[in-house]
Amino acid sequence: MLNLILFLIITLAWVLFLRNIFSCRLKGFEDKNKRLTDELKGLTDSKKKFDLENTQLNKTLEDTLALYELTLDICRSLEEEKVFSIFNKNLKKYIGIGDCRYIKDEADLIKYKDHMILPLNIEENEVAGYLAVDSILETDKEKFGILAQQFLIGLRRALLYQKVQGLTITDGLTQVYCRRYFLERFGEELKRSKKNKLHLSFLMIDIDNFKQFNDRYGHLVGDAILRQVSKIISENVRQIDFIGRYGGEEFSIVLAETDKEQANFAGQRIRQAIEGATIKAYDEKLKVTVSIGISTFPVNTRNMQDLIEMADQALYVAKETGKNKVCFSPA
Ligand code: GH3
Ligand code: MG
Ligand code: MG
Repeated sequence: MLNLILFLIITLAWVLFLRNIFSCRLKGFEDKNKRLTDELKGLTDSKKKFDLENTQLNKTLEDTLALYELTLDICRSLEEEKVFSIFNKNLKKYIGIGDCRYIKDEADLIKYKDHMILPLNIEENEVAGYLAVDSILETDKEKFGILAQQFLIGLRRALLYQKVQGLTITDGLTQVYCRRYFLERFGEELKRSKKNKLHLSFLMIDIDNFKQFNDRYGHLVGDAILRQVSKIISENVRQIDFIGRYGGEEFSIVLAETDKEQANFAGQRIRQAIEGATIKAYDEKLKVTVSIGISTFPVNTRNMQDLIEMADQALYVAKETGKNKVCFSPA
C-alpha cells in the first residue's frame, strides 16, 4: 500500500514535471510565432510602402516626360497664337477642363468672370496676357499651374522673337521702318498696284536747315526733332500707308492707292502739320519745316528706282525754290 502511494506520488510528480516542460516549450513556440507574425506584418507594410513610392516615382517620371514633350511641342512655333493652340491641344490630354483661352487685353477679362484666371508674367512687372480656364477640378489646379509654366516658356520665346524682328524692321530713333525694310515693302506694294491697276505715290521728305538746329542746339535736340517730326508724319497718314527713315533727316512715304492729286493733298497736310507744330526738345521750343518731293505710279514711271529718283529731283526743286513746300515730278 505504501509502495502504491509512493508510486502514485512519483508518477504525479513526473506528470507535473513533464507538463511544466511542455507548457514552457509551448509558450516559447507561441512567442516565436508571434514574433514571426509581427515581422511578416512589418515586411508586408514595408512592401506596401515601397509599392506606393514606386507608383509615385513612375507617376513623377510620366509627368516629367509629359512636360518635356509638351515643352518640345510648344517650342516648335514662334507664333504667339500657334504656341497657344499647341498648348491648348496638349492641355486636354493631361487634365480635364472645359475651355481654356489666351487673353491679351486685360479689359476682356470681364467676359470670363466665371473662369479661373492665371496671369502670364513675362518679366517681374510685365504681364503678357492671361489664361482663363473653365470647369477645372480643384485637384487639377496645381497641375494646370505647372503646365501653364511651359506655355509661358513658349510665349516668352515667341515675344522675344517678335521683338528682335521688330528691332530690325524699325529705326531705333524714329520708330518708322528702316530703309532696307521700307524698300522691301515698297517693292511689294508696287507689285500689288501693278496687279490691281491702282495708283501709288511716293513722297520724299527732308527737314529744312536741319544742320543749323544740330549746330545751334546740339545733336540731342536734333534727335528729339527727328523723333517728333516722324511722329507728326505718322499721325497724318492712313493705316495702309507706310513710312521709312530714308537717311539722316529724310523720311520716305508710300501712299497706297493714291494718285497725284490725292498725294498733293496728303503732302500739304503733312507739311502744314509740321509747320504748325511747336517742337519741344528738352528746354527748347522750336519751329521746324520740311520740303517734300512727290512721284506717282504709273503717270511718272512704273519702276521703283525711277520713282525714288524722280521724287528726289522734285525735292531738290522744292529746296531750290524756297523750301517748306511740296513739289511734283513733272509727268
Ligand atoms: P536742307 O534744308 O538743304 O535740307 O539743309 P539741311 O541742313 O537740312 O541738310 P544737310 O544735308 O546739310 O544736313 C543734314 C544734317 O542732318 C547733317 C547731319 O549731321 C544731320 N543728321 C543726320 N542724321 C542725324 C541724326 O540721326 N541725328 C542728328 N541729330 N542729326 C543727324
Ligand atoms: Mg537731307
Ligand atoms: Mg535737310
